Amino acid sequence: MIPALGQRTEAHFEEIRGMGPQGETPGKEGEEPGEEGEEPGEEEEPGEEGEPREEGEDSLTPEEYTVDLASDGFMDLPPGDQVVYLTFDDGPCDSTGRLLDVLEELHVPATFFVTGQYLEQGELLEELEEIYRRGHGLGVHTYSHRYEEIYASVESFWRDYDRMAFLVEQVTGKRNRLLRFPGGSNTGKNAQIRQELLKGVRERELIYHDWNSFVGDTQGLEPGEMLEQAVGGVLGHEKSVMLLHNGPGKEAVIDILPEIVRRLREEGYRFALLDETVRPFQFAREEEPVV
Ligand SMILES: [Zn+2]
Repeated sequence: MIPALGQRTEAHFEEIRGMGPQGETPGKEGEEPGEEGEEPGEEEEPGEEGEPREEGEDSLTPEEYTVDLASDGFMDLPPGDQVVYLTFDDGPCDSTGRLLDVLEELHVPATFFVTGQYLEQGELLEELEEIYRRGHGLGVHTYSHRYEEIYASVESFWRDYDRMAFLVEQVTGKRNRLLRFPGGSNTGKNAQIRQELLKGVRERELIYHDWNSFVGDTQGLEPGEMLEQAVGGVLGHEKSVMLLHNGPGKEAVIDILPEIVRRLREEGYRFALLDETVRPFQFAREEEPVV
């Protein structure tokens, strides 16, 4: 029950943001959505026990079990819990608003690994705020996204990273910890400085996420092929972090998103928010420091 645009309240916002590891109740088949007679702008109690949720609102930990954080701070979901985490890289851009509308209709949360490459500062901040206000996650994907600059040296990487992290932190009010390296952690472009970068990540207590499924939107695939790539890439994984892009020329991804979600739900998957508790898939790892 997401209030219409302009009617969303801080409580609603907090409610969505609060879908952490302690778990709230997810929607159940046939449960009353409880929208009848709801006053516009009426505030919902954040995190109220037993609060009915709309069917398909997948972001929460099922109440059937409690999940504790592992000693390393990540959440280990029980076997059989099939989860997909959608991640959109590169935006925000002109199509971000439409993407947010589609995600809202689907009741699917996503995490946006954002850059500053497509919008001027004011617009950029507005879009970042909109992403966060509507319950999605924000992580840093560097500001410029220009490989030759960000991977030129460790210093230039962190200078560029800090520029974007500052904007994200202005929006969320807390320190950003989520990172996706442009090209992935094992990109050939960062080979010379990779270990130093990973050391910096550890020292800054950041969490970098790669992926184990992708939609293929940078590979010139037709929409039908992207759909099969996305769905086929998830099947066989109990837990999947999917790489998608939100950038100019990538609008077809938004078009096929409802079908991706429908097909995967049909296969028993739920969609959850990739946040700081999600154990990351990482292509490259920091080598053991020499003691
Ligand atoms: Zn990217």
